[in-house]
Amino acid sequence: MRVLVLLGPPGAGKGTQAESFARSRGIPRISTGDVLRQVARAGAEADRKARALMDAGHLVDDDTVIGIVRERLAAADAARGFVLDGFPRTLVQAEALDLLLDDREPLVIVDIEVPDETLAQRLRGRLVCQGCGTPATVGMQACGKCGGTLAPRTDDEFAVVQQRLKVYAAQSRPIVEYYRRRPTFRSVDGDQPQEAVAADIAAAVASVVWGRQ
Ligand code: AMP
Repeated sequence: MRVLVLLGPPGAGKGTQAESFARSRGIPRISTGDVLRQVARAGAEADRKARALMDAGHLVDDDTVIGIVRERLAAADAARGFVLDGFPRTLVQAEALDLLLDDREPLVIVDIEVPDETLAQRLRGRLVCQGCGTPATVGMQACGKCGGTLAPRTDDEFAVVQQRLKVYAAQSRPIVEYYRRRPTFRSVDGDQPQEAVAADIAAAVASVVWGRQ
């Protein structure tokens, strides 16, 4: 049972890379952002609050997000392993994850590094599926997974993007330091074509696994 955590700022390509890695290994991609967008559409009062935070580029509170992950990890399809995309995003979440996975193999953590200028540029142009939240790649007319309609994310407007990058630097960047000293931590250069990043992630994961054998 293997758990891969993909770290990286908004726009680093976590969603796309998590999706392709998970598909190639036959394990689920667990994205807290996707789950939050789905429940927000369902429309309960607490969920609308979460939606407002997301649309403004802020983080949703730790308890809500940790609850989502706890529930999702208990599902049968997560028993063989999974890829976490967008979680953890705070130190509190990182510590909670360690407790949740206490009896499993050590986490493999891959940090996707991308310079700020590249991120802002990428975030302005990206599209996601309105049905299942899967990110689209350049030139796609419909979702590659479910055929759904593609549209920009509401939190990809310029001001919100700046806010999300700020939140990342303040709240999520410290997680990289939390994990960096672990023997199962790797970083990859995310400022290259998607296929090259995917190859580097696969190599990073393989090096961790081989390193432990
Ligand atoms: P993402 O799709 O991963 O970029 O997430 C979109 C938005 O959902 C974020 O900007 C946050 O508002 C919220 N969100 C997703 N994951 C988390 C998390 N682990 N902790 C707090 N908020 C989250």
